[in-house]
Amino acid sequence: MKYCKKCVYPMISVNLILDDEGICSACRLQEEFDMLTEEFWEQRRKKFIELTRWAKSKSTGNYDCVIPVSGGKDSYFQVHKVLEYGLKPLLVTYHGNNYLPEGQRNLDRMREKLNVDHIVFGPSIEILKKLNRGCFEIMGDMNWHAHAGIKTYPMHIAVKFNIPLVVWGEITWTISGMFSANDFVEYNKRTVFEHDMRGFTTKDMLERIKGLTHKDLVWLTMPSDKEFEETQTKGIYVGNFFKWDPNIHAQEMKKNYGFEFASQPFARTYRTMSNLDDMHENGIHDYLKYIKFGYGRATDHASKDIRSGYLTREEGLEMVRKYDHIRPQDDLNRWLKYVRMTEEQFDHIADSFRDHRVWWVKDGKWWKNNLWGDCSAYEDVKLEKDKISKYIRQ
Ligand SMILES: [Zn+2]
Repeated sequence: MKYCKKCVYPMISVNLILDDEGICSACRLQEEFDMLTEEFWEQRRKKFIELTRWAKSKSTGNYDCVIPVSGGKDSYFQVHKVLEYGLKPLLVTYHGNNYLPEGQRNLDRMREKLNVDHIVFGPSIEILKKLNRGCFEIMGDMNWHAHAGIKTYPMHIAVKFNIPLVVWGEITWTISGMFSANDFVEYNKRTVFEHDMRGFTTKDMLERIKGLTHKDLVWLTMPSDKEFEETQTKGIYVGNFFKWDPNIHAQEMKKNYGFEFASQPFARTYRTMSNLDDMHENGIHDYLKYIKFGYGRATDHASKDIRSGYLTREEGLEMVRKYDHIRPQDDLNRWLKYVRMTEEQFDHIADSFRDHRVWWVKDGKWWKNNLWGDCSAYEDVKLEKDKISKYIRQ
């Protein structure tokens, strides 16, 4: 397994490319962003002002824009910026039912501290449990509903209330370096379908998860092309207009609005300011990513922090060594109870998602290469015997 020489990303990371010098596309993109001048950002700021004027001229109702919010540090930053430039926003939240107490307080606090209106949409708990369990079985991702819901539901609100602009936060895909600052990515159906929804739609859910009807999942569909055309609603990313630094944003939002970090450390990463809107996101959901690809959120966080100069590569490597392989047992127990599944069933299914380019089987254990050069045995193999052959290396 090859790793980026600058950050700690493995080559297997989605859409990542290593260049001739062994540096990954995400690190190169960060270098590109770092070189952008004050004048560049001033030009971008002016473009943002133009867009706010456009939104105000188009707006026919009470609101100039929708801001999809989870209540995280980025949500606060999005609202902060929109208010600074004089737009009247409507906040829209997709509520997946598993907020950490700090995350829920952060969400509730927005209405008070930022003086804004807020719609919170929560699907039926029984439907959410079916989607949690079903999507874990189908794609090894119990939080698919949340990644999809936050991208679909706010668009329905925008279209229904004829609100011209939807303001998203960080430019997605920078994590792999897929798009540069000059690409000026806007929200579009294709990237949501391919990236956030992993190529799955409600059709897959209805075919493969028992007891769901089309009416149960209307919120998971996109508005039609006709609706988009009629309203001319467009989605933009604040990250295209203002310099994006999550560490600085989090501190500013804490100081200005009382944004709370997690009060307890997470089992699988050192950052306490991210993913407070779902207790399993940094826990068992992230553990599944490690099972699939051999790396987890500690690798993501360390890589971002190395690129922005908050950690050295050695410090980042230590974070990966400390966190990436941890099985979050308490978090797993809670999720199993939530969806009524046994641990044995879980392990059985989880093992079936392991990538054979990362993992191999020897002496009844899962083995993989390590970032620090050697290889180690990790957990016991729970996969059925007839599925093991592709994991045997000669
Ligand atoms: Zn890198």
